[in-house]
Amino acid sequence: DLSNAIVAQDEMGRPFIIVKDQGNKKRQHGIEAKKSHILAARSIASIIKTSLGPRGLDKILISPDGDITITNDGATILSQMELDNEIAKLLVQLSKSQDDEIGDGTTGVVVLASALLDQALELIEKGIHPIKIANGFDEAAKVAIAQLESKADDVAVSDELFDEYLLKAAGTSLGSKIVSKDHDKFAKMAVEAVKTVMNKERKDVDFDLIKLQGRVGGSLKDSVLINGVILDKDFSHPQMPTEVLPKENEEDVKLAILTCPFEPPKPKTKHKLDISSVEEYQKLQTYEQDKFKEMINYIKDAGADVVICQWGFDDEANHLLLQNELPAVRWVGGQEIEQIAIATNGRIVPRFQDLSSNKLGSCGKIYEMEFGTTKDRMLVIEQCKGSKTVTCFIRGSNKMIVDEAQRALHDSLCVVRNLVRDSRVVYGGGAAEIVMSLAVEEEADRQRGIDQYAFRAFAQALDIIPMTLAENSGLDPIETLSTLKSKQLKENASVIGVDCLGKGSNDMKELFVVDPFIGKKQQILLATQLCRMILKIDNVIISGKDEY
Ligand code: ADP
Repeated sequence: DLSNAIVAQDEMGRPFIIVKDQGNKKRQHGIEAKKSHILAARSIASIIKTSLGPRGLDKILISPDGDITITNDGATILSQMELDNEIAKLLVQLSKSQDDEIGDGTTGVVVLASALLDQALELIEKGIHPIKIANGFDEAAKVAIAQLESKADDVAVSDELFDEYLLKAAGTSLGSKIVSKDHDKFAKMAVEAVKTVMNKERKDVDFDLIKLQGRVGGSLKDSVLINGVILDKDFSHPQMPTEVLPKENEEDVKLAILTCPFEPPKPKTKHKLDISSVEEYQKLQTYEQDKFKEMINYIKDAGADVVICQWGFDDEANHLLLQNELPAVRWVGGQEIEQIAIATNGRIVPRFQDLSSNKLGSCGKIYEMEFGTTKDRMLVIEQCKGSKTVTCFIRGSNKMIVDEAQRALHDSLCVVRNLVRDSRVVYGGGAAEIVMSLAVEEEADRQRGIDQYAFRAFAQALDIIPMTLAENSGLDPIETLSTLKSKQLKENASVIGVDCLGKGSNDMKELFVVDPFIGKKQQILLATQLCRMILKIDNVIISGKDEY
């Protein structure tokens, strides 16, 4: 149909045809709209599916300005893809919600949601109303979660066992990540960090107290957990000591944390300051020096050993600080100042006059950490009593590795935190999904009405997780799934999952592949909710664009 075609000429006089096809663009309605949504979701899921599990592959993402990210983390992959499909954006949101609330399982939740949508599409094509499908899925999710809950194991029976499980769960989450070679070390780091800052009674972990800091150089195995904070700074004068320990008869190193500038206040005068003679100039200089001395005295009187300043100071002040044996750090950012105050249990002091001994922070030692042969140093403020700030200091040979290791560590910190909050675990490698799938299938047989279709579809969607894990590990998905299912049924064991790493056993409990129960539950809830949301959409109207 060339009725809306125009012939035009380019600058060389060659003719070409412009076909205006906007006129043919239709707004999609009803089933058509749903189909296209589901196809969009499927294409997203197909991209990140191959990242699922310990044999999952990494993705390389290149931003418009050429920055490179290498990652295996579903939430990160999705957040960096430039998507212009609205439904695809909803999936991105989905993995983000899982990330915000649970921190792990971001790949799995998207794979599951897309599998649910796929199943829904088949039902729609059979003529079942989308809302009916969504309702059926909700009911099926309830059955699934109830069954999973009944099979979850509480691991907080003894402290030792709990610690062991914390380590194993942290390890499971790291298994698929770049750090997998050093995953024992990172799992230990995650567990120790969380255990240091957690509030045992309230079963809560304040993530503000755990800082992740990375620095390019060295290798992943040089990463350490530091009981305190690290500053990307050094002492203000090269002759200051590189290590400060408590004074004799003292227990701690005392820190003055100052947000006031280390400079004399300008003489207060309404008029212009006229210096017309040498005497007047000297008077001003003495005034400045007196002021500096006064400031140093305030610090000395309060009993501080080290000065942390938000602002800079000039050579004169620097020299005086050195003379008075007061190692100092200048230009410490506002956020770091706050962190130091929290870690050392000190107060941020805005005026020299306000300094007193009870406002000083305290720590066991402060030292400059050097890196191999390079000149750069960082300051470590360590062994802070009374407070529980920790820093996970990550090393790696390039920025991409350091970044990905940070993300991986974040995931495993989340897993450990989740177990502190709720100490029930379920088994990984798709074992949990098979448990749920079997229960939902069984329930489907009991249903009389249309719900039975939704239940069956839901069970099949759950099967996608073990199937994908098997596929990514080079196993035959369908064969693996049916073997595992019959094994679970025969042995009535909820621990049978995919042996992704070829360890020769399907017993996930034996292999210690565990995931927190609340993480799995959240995956099911979020995926079902998103599916309902998409099934209810039958019209996409994009504001700002004209409709033709
Ligand atoms: P997500 O971003 O969803 O956490 P991962 O790539 O971390 O995705 O994969 C997690 C899945 O891999 C979970 O289902 C977990 O049970 C499974 N898994 C992790 N380690 C193993 C293992 N050693 N053997 C079998 N399955 C594992």
